[in-house]
Amino acid sequence: MDKSQEKEEKSQDQQQKSAIDRLNQAAQKARQGKTAIETAKKGAKLAKKASKKLAGRAATALGRQTVATIGAAIVSTAPAWGPPVLFALAIGGLFLVVIIIIIVLFSGATPPPTCKTISADPTTISNNLGANLSVSECSENITYSWALPQIGGVFSASQSASTLYTPPQVNSSQKISIAISICSISAPSNCSQYQTPELTVVAQKLYSCNGYCTIASSCPSSDITGQGTCPTSPSMICCKKDNKKPGPVPSCSEIDQRLRQDYRIRTQSGTPPISYWGPSTAENISCATKQGLWKIFSILTKSWSFENRLLSTSATIQFFYDSSDPTHGYGLTAWAYRMQLHNATYRINNNLSLAGAWITHETGHWLQKRDGSLEARFPDLSRLNRLDSGCYEPGSGSYWLKTYSLRGGNISPIRESMAEAISLYVYNEKYNIINGRLVSIVNFKIKCPNTYKWVRDNIFRGYEYN
Ligand SMILES: [Zn+2]
Repeated sequence: MDKSQEKEEKSQDQQQKSAIDRLNQAAQKARQGKTAIETAKKGAKLAKKASKKLAGRAATALGRQTVATIGAAIVSTAPAWGPPVLFALAIGGLFLVVIIIIIVLFSGATPPPTCKTISADPTTISNNLGANLSVSECSENITYSWALPQIGGVFSASQSASTLYTPPQVNSSQKISIAISICSISAPSNCSQYQTPELTVVAQKLYSCNGYCTIASSCPSSDITGQGTCPTSPSMICCKKDNKKPGPVPSCSEIDQRLRQDYRIRTQSGTPPISYWGPSTAENISCATKQGLWKIFSILTKSWSFENRLLSTSATIQFFYDSSDPTHGYGLTAWAYRMQLHNATYRINNNLSLAGAWITHETGHWLQKRDGSLEARFPDLSRLNRLDSGCYEPGSGSYWLKTYSLRGGNISPIRESMAEAISLYVYNEKYNIINGRLVSIVNFKIKCPNTYKWVRDNIFRGYEYN
């Protein structure tokens, strides 16, 4: 230590001492209460500490003299009361902030939410056959967010633990996996990511012919066009006229196979909790019920256009039994390939015509799911209400074909009115009572001619029942 340096340090000590003295004096003079003084003292102490620390740290990198000057500058260049205290408070505040950050970091570090399983069923899909995706056994109080894969598609519910994913039409088969992000509700940035098992999206072949595709035995040889493409499984040919002779009802030993072969439909006892409406249990399906179903579809497929639409996709009808309301038939058809019926065994065996009108309505939803252009082309409901007066009623911001009961909520007035119109087109009448009011339509063809004409031209391509 040379002399000049010693002197320098001495003067620094003196300067610091005098600064603190001044500080204390000023604080006494200020008489601003004990707390203020203590705070000031603490601030000064902190400042002193900080200056020492700074000096210590920088000493290795800088010359000692320079450091001393910096240290001295911190304390002694500050003139009296205000600024030093403020500075000290700032340093104290900084410490506080650091401590708070540490506390937040350590106490807030809750583990990310988790789910034990993620599934996809089935794993081979097309735009006619989606996959049910779900995550289960998850942490509580979380949000779900499914992310569409690059190829696009649609989710039935992108913010739920379970959703139906329907891919777009693809030209060649593709393998994809779908991601879901689950996040804590209380800390939305605290998330985990999961991926479904691999899904194969198969390319869907489109069939077309100048007529309709049907099994060979149901097309008279004079009507075989020999043109266009039809499915090879079941083996079909292109037939040019409406088939108006469905033939005898298949026997019990062949009914399952004929439902599949003639209409690409298979039946299944629904297994709760697959049913979206409850309370319900699986319903056993008798041969008579299946034969009734076959008859209902044999009426619809008298129109080759309708048959083409029906045969474009194979589908399953699931049967449920609702013991709380066993004579009420109600269905859910939110898919292109599945229909869920409640109490259909009772309805079919009790009154085939009424059951037929109901199941035809549900089949109308299949057609909508398979051909998105139908909904877009259906006439404006307020216009139909003007043209076919007496056929529609207002409700939930729109007009509804009045025989339909469940108006409102997220039920679509266009889809329901169209499905109802398809059913009325075939059966021509429906008697219904809603909240004690009679909302029947008798002789649909005469009473609602504009709606009738749209169904004739767009769904049945000219084939008429009435
Ligand atoms: Zn409906």
